[in-house]
Amino acid sequence: MKIAILALQGAFEEHRQTLLKLGVESFFVRNLSDYQCQKDGIIIPGGESTTILKLLNDLNIFEPLKQDIENGLPVFGTCAGLIMLDDKHLGTMDITVKRNAYGRQLGSFFFEGDFDGIDGKIPMTFIRAPFIEKCGEGVKILSIVNGNIVAAQQERQLVTAFHPELNEDLRVHEYFLQEVVKVN
Ligand code: GLN
Repeated sequence: MKIAILALQGAFEEHRQTLLKLGVESFFVRNLSDYQCQKDGIIIPGGESTTILKLLNDLNIFEPLKQDIENGLPVFGTCAGLIMLDDKHLGTMDITVKRNAYGRQLGSFFFEGDFDGIDGKIPMTFIRAPFIEKCGEGVKILSIVNGNIVAAQQERQLVTAFHPELNEDLRVHEYFLQEVVKVN
């Protein structure tokens, strides 16, 4: 199995470290030719969604990425990566997102929450995080924190508003590999 990690801006290195701990090969995508390499799935990391969007467009990755996801390329978006999949960006996932949803004071916080399909509490680090305001029927809600949707899945698209790569816990990445990518 080989996972691509979009590495234009933001917290991409931490995803590589997490995948390494799971014994999974990965590579960084910094331009179109990196993007075109064979991959079983792609991670879109947290960072600044406006910057990531601009770079995806400038590097001509936006359209092929959108098409590939529409054709079933497994994708895991964390925080800004979640925003990238919404109806105002790549538009591949049937979700409407509120950015910087917790206000300036509450922008960053830690919570231990439930995650459907994983036993026990998951450590959740939120950094100027979004949440999902609205989602369509095909979207399965995986986690709700303080009444807000913070993790969801639509077929082969998984999103979290928090940053699982910033904690030692490997289970959300494992969930992505086992339940979304599903390649041995
Ligand atoms: N606030 C950022 C945005 O709107 C997302 C923050 C993050 O990815 N940690 O793009």
